[in-house]
Amino acid sequence: MKSTERRKELLIWLEEEGTLSLSEMVERFGVSKMTIHRDLDLLEQRQVLKRIHGGAARIEKLVRDRDGRYESRLEQGSCLVCFRPPTQQLLYTLTLKNGEQKVACCPHCGISAHLMLGDRIAMALTADYLTGKLHSAQHSYFVFGSVAVPCCRPSILTFEDKEMADRFQKGFGGQVGSLSDAMTFLERDMSLDKTDGCPHCAAAKSQQDG
Ligand SMILES: [Zn+2]
Ligand SMILES: [Zn+2]
Repeated sequence: MKSTERRKELLIWLEEEGTLSLSEMVERFGVSKMTIHRDLDLLEQRQVLKRIHGGAARIEKLVRDRDGRYESRLEQGSCLVCFRPPTQQLLYTLTLKNGEQKVACCPHCGISAHLMLGDRIAMALTADYLTGKLHSAQHSYFVFGSVAVPCCRPSILTFEDKEMADRFQKGFGGQVGSLSDAMTFLERDMSLDKTDGCPHCAAAKSQQDG
């Protein structure tokens, strides 16, 4: 498992458990204590978890807004990948096999969540970019890599209707494909960059934090 994947999994697991001990993490990921320490240092710097004696604890949804004030966001309220608040037109929702509901700010982060969570996802719904209507991601037409970037970069947008996806692609470029094509596209894009996780979302988040 790559270190970026391990850190993402660690965060998701911590989100579920609330706290994790060092030995639990060592055992689960099959890496040394040193490696876990480095992961926790890095994640604490990014303010996505809190180090506690012998492990880590989840941060209770306190994030700083643009003016640097702390505000608490609703559990459902922010994107599970980059913490942006989602909008109806771009919403991507995920239902996990354990019944949990997650939201992503846009299909970019939705696809990123598919890459992170794999078969723990039971169902995914995505909003049509033109109508905002939710429909199955499995049967959606994805336009990825177009110059229209309403949220995260590289842009991934979804359409319920193939004709609309094709027309959009003619106007704004990129490619039309299925859910799995979009996953391949994003995976390739992310692997070009050596930074942690989705480089674009990480940059957006650190801007927000700073
Ligand atoms: Zn996001
Ligand atoms: Zn987004």
